[in-house]
Amino acid sequence: MQNKGNKSEVVKKVGKGNGCPHYKKCGGCHLQNMTYEEQLKFKQIKMIKLLGKFCHVKEIIGMENPLHYRCKVQAAFSKDKTGIISGVYQSSTHNIVPIDSCMIEDEKADEIIVTIRKLLKSFKLKPFDDKTMSGFLRHVLIRKGYYTGQIMVVLVTGSPVFPSCRSFINALVGRHPEITTVVQNVNGKFTSLVLGEKNITLFGNGYIEDTISDFVFRISPKSFYQVNPVMTNILYGKAIEYMNLTGQETVIDAYCGTGTIGILASKNAKQVIGVELNADAVKDAKFNAKQNLVENIDFYTADAGDFMVEMAKAGEKADVVIMDPPRAGSDKRFMDSVFTLSPERVVYVSCNPDTLARDLSYFVRNGYGVRRIQPVDMFPHTDHIETVVLLVKSKKDKH
Ligand code: SAH
Repeated sequence: MQNKGNKSEVVKKVGKGNGCPHYKKCGGCHLQNMTYEEQLKFKQIKMIKLLGKFCHVKEIIGMENPLHYRCKVQAAFSKDKTGIISGVYQSSTHNIVPIDSCMIEDEKADEIIVTIRKLLKSFKLKPFDDKTMSGFLRHVLIRKGYYTGQIMVVLVTGSPVFPSCRSFINALVGRHPEITTVVQNVNGKFTSLVLGEKNITLFGNGYIEDTISDFVFRISPKSFYQVNPVMTNILYGKAIEYMNLTGQETVIDAYCGTGTIGILASKNAKQVIGVELNADAVKDAKFNAKQNLVENIDFYTADAGDFMVEMAKAGEKADVVIMDPPRAGSDKRFMDSVFTLSPERVVYVSCNPDTLARDLSYFVRNGYGVRRIQPVDMFPHTDHIETVVLLVKSKKDKH
């Protein structure tokens, strides 16, 4: 949850000289040598340099309080000469930087991780050692529903064996009654991935829920869900505004994840079609649509490019395409099929300004004009920038 305090105090606190004690070792927050205001200016200048040639870049929307915004927190566990440690991997290494509290992570999540570390000691449970592939706890993942307050703790262990499981969970939930579910995730592989395949629900129902606008979304241990809920609301709000829906449109939600944007758009569209590569995410998306009683939306598991090519071949039409690709951006195959489907509007949500700039050039060469560019600071203190862009089909378009 966010800290109390006015903006100028916050800006001072995270600025030069008063920054995070882990800043140099951790390497997660690249911009912490700047005050928050300087960070926003830095990002704005970067965006103007990259995207200013397409259209005016609106002023980046920053956070009122840019601390403790991450509602998804992960900690790796290990042992050193001081005993059991937990924290984050130093950038590009396998060394753990011990951390008890982080300025961008949810504070309750950090407290729970410290409790788990203490409980391990009293229950004589060992952290997992990936050199010998033995021991018990590898990672802890905590996810919190910002608006519902629900908290999920995922204990990632090297094997399904959990000595004194019941007493451990009772002790944990006893100390933190705000925990609503605890899941054991088994990951016995030699891998840099945090989560393994198998989930065992130990307490509660195995998932949490959070809300965006009037809708409720289920978040399971593996679901993709934006980590900064306050700014997600602003980002999705802009995307919906740029779609300018009247209730008559067919909308394609490409790279739809668990269907969040498409479900929000469904309220003001005739029909929404969501397409996503990850079958688990599509399962969640279908569940989310059902639980929100949304009937004008369908989800498909497919490569967004392939799917759109098929739609174009079948002569189908779309009025609006919303696309939210991963950091690598989109590809020509996908964009070519957008040009064939010829929607009036394309709303591009991007988490990487470099690939966005590349893709926008391709749109512009193919009959679309860039009308709005709105950067949103989803990840304060890091160098990441999220952007929503509105593209409109040019009148003299030949398609
Ligand atoms: N719009 C969603 C998810 C965005 S993340 C949200 O806001 O929550 C980007 C998504 O693109 C991921 O879910 C990823 O699985 C999906 N993806 C990656 N490559 C893809 C492809 N080639 N075709 C379709 N989906 C893809």
